[in-house]
Amino acid sequence: MESGKIILFEAGYCLHPEVMVVQGGSFRRVKFPAMAALISHPKGNLLWDTGYGTHFFTATSSFPEKLYALTTPVTLDKTLREQLSDPVDWIFISHFHADHIGGLRDFPEVPLYCSRKAYNVARDTKSSRFTKTRMGILPSLLPDDFEQRVIFIETLPKVDLPPFLSPFTQGYLLLDRYYLIELKGHAVGHYGLVVENTFFISDAVWDIRTITQNRYPNPLTRLIMENGNAYDATVKALQQLHKNNPDIALIPTHCSRTLQSYCEGNSHG
Ligand SMILES: [Zn+2]
Repeated sequence: MESGKIILFEAGYCLHPEVMVVQGGSFRRVKFPAMAALISHPKGNLLWDTGYGTHFFTATSSFPEKLYALTTPVTLDKTLREQLSDPVDWIFISHFHADHIGGLRDFPEVPLYCSRKAYNVARDTKSSRFTKTRMGILPSLLPDDFEQRVIFIETLPKVDLPPFLSPFTQGYLLLDRYYLIELKGHAVGHYGLVVENTFFISDAVWDIRTITQNRYPNPLTRLIMENGNAYDATVKALQQLHKNNPDIALIPTHCSRTLQSYCEGNSHG
């Protein structure tokens, strides 16, 4: 794969009423893709998350985990692994919600980058299976040798970000050329990834219109956020970034509009 190239994938999707994630949205259930991306670095290929995987269905086959599958009906036509024709050399995990790590077990031996804080929450043995399910975390999706393969983001070089990313000022340097930026509020240790002019903002928003049109999710979604106020501050910072530098492509994991416009842009060359 040619260096600098980015390919987006849909690795499964779920259905939800649109009105939950964007003010003024439809009450109909619409499709929320679980995206992943393959990013070509001069020394190999980096994955941004893994979407759903077949392991998601095994992990949610009994209670209480089944509640996750019942409240979020998932369709997976083709796993990310099946869609990829290029090798994967590293995986960046934005956070540990099941729709981001569902395919991890399909990539044995690949080094993994994630936040230590996020990992500690996913592995925490004090919270019950029910609590974890409610938080969107299914620990059985984690490969058994996770700790042998992980490189924690917090151990990477901490850097001042270039001015084009203002108002974001601090981040971590990944593979000598990408930036990892903590996007607080959605989940503990939730990170975005900047690859040149593309900012994978993971679940900082569900729908791009929260940033471009200031249309916030339904207040009920605050129940599943780690910190509502931090979430708002992150959205404001992203809105400011978009205003300062509209050429940066912002990619939220679950926004079907973003996926569609990306695919259209690509097919036009
Ligand atoms: Zn999430």
